[in-house]
Amino acid sequence: MGLRRCFGVLLIVLAMPALAAEVGGLRVWSDPEKTRAVLDLSDRTEYQLFSLQNPHRLVIDLKDTRLDTRLGLNADHAGIIKNVRSGNPESDTLRVVLDLSQRAKSKSFLLEPTADYDHRLVIDLFPEDGRKTATIKRVTDVHKPDRDVLIAIDAGHGGEDPGALGPSRVREKDVVLNIARKLAREIDAQPGMKAMLIRDGDYYIALRDRYERARKARADLFVSIHADAFKDRRVNGSSVFVLSRRGASSEYARLLADSENRADLVGGVKLNEQDDMLASVLLDLSQSATMGASTEVAGEILQSLKSHRGVKVHKPHVGRAAFQVLKSPDVPSVLVETAFISNPGEEKRLTQREFQDNISAAIADGIRDFFYRRPPTGTWIAANRDGARHVVSRGDTLGGIASRYQVSLSSLRKVNNLNGDKILVGSELIIPTS
Ligand SMILES: [Zn+2]
Repeated sequence: MGLRRCFGVLLIVLAMPALAAEVGGLRVWSDPEKTRAVLDLSDRTEYQLFSLQNPHRLVIDLKDTRLDTRLGLNADHAGIIKNVRSGNPESDTLRVVLDLSQRAKSKSFLLEPTADYDHRLVIDLFPEDGRKTATIKRVTDVHKPDRDVLIAIDAGHGGEDPGALGPSRVREKDVVLNIARKLAREIDAQPGMKAMLIRDGDYYIALRDRYERARKARADLFVSIHADAFKDRRVNGSSVFVLSRRGASSEYARLLADSENRADLVGGVKLNEQDDMLASVLLDLSQSATMGASTEVAGEILQSLKSHRGVKVHKPHVGRAAFQVLKSPDVPSVLVETAFISNPGEEKRLTQREFQDNISAAIADGIRDFFYRRPPTGTWIAANRDGARHVVSRGDTLGGIASRYQVSLSSLRKVNNLNGDKILVGSELIIPTS
């Protein structure tokens, strides 16, 4: 048996000396911290990296590798990569040279094929000028007295990971980024609330890094936005999920969690490094409080989705699944599946401004309702929510109410999120404390 296998291998080597890996293309992505270059390979290959200065460049030598296409660069998100060249320093070696705009540290790894991709060589370039990212700065101004409630909004997928694909090839990563940006604007327009975007561009962030960014910024809530696919194209509507302790609560939830968790394999990050630590953190009692709050926010969002014009819910209750991205031990976290991209009608709506506006307004309203009911101490909402209430009766005007309670018209508008002077009879107005 062993001999036979040996013979077989020998035959292949003799008969096909050119059986080597082939480079199929180059993709580049950049996020605020790094530039990621991905070389598609037809097979595993040996490679070496080294950097050169004056000018700055990174050289990649791939053994027994061929290149039959021209490697292009998408200048829109090429980050610090200025140009790409290739050559053959030796007959059996392919050399790819990335010209860089500045000195950078590199990290690299090979990825096995996944459903969407072949073998890949991933090279991450971290600029060495030591600049800190904008996200870190925000931490300090969150802690003013009467601070704003901070909502971290996570657009799912990105970069190498397109997420689910619709029947007409609409990509989940693109539509959820649009919805996330709209949701951030909705949140910023609410008095006492402020949004941060975890991903604000077409690049991939590892699932754990997503909630770690929210934790570092001391966010009060983490909301992950998705639009996934299902086998049955008839299935439609929005759903809201929280983390389940014992795994998925339904077959659909389980399948969905698997496809969301697979994202890290696509993005090229090993999943297991800290899972043990995380597992024990999950047992911590603080997690129970977080999960309780998560469930409450999810309920408010679902309620708001149900009552909002132009939005349809998939199931009338909050789902539970083992989404990695929701595993923050101390930041309440929810995941909203805005629609099924696999449903042709919803795929189309996901690209339309009207639906994007409706769904982001509905999510923002649900979040607002939660924080007005349960404001964290030290927040502007906590300080103002406990002021007096006024139920609008016939003949009331906004100006009249403002002077009766001796508050300014602008603060009355702000706290109630009003743009003009129109008030509805029977509605309740919050009277600001000062
Ligand atoms: Zn997704």
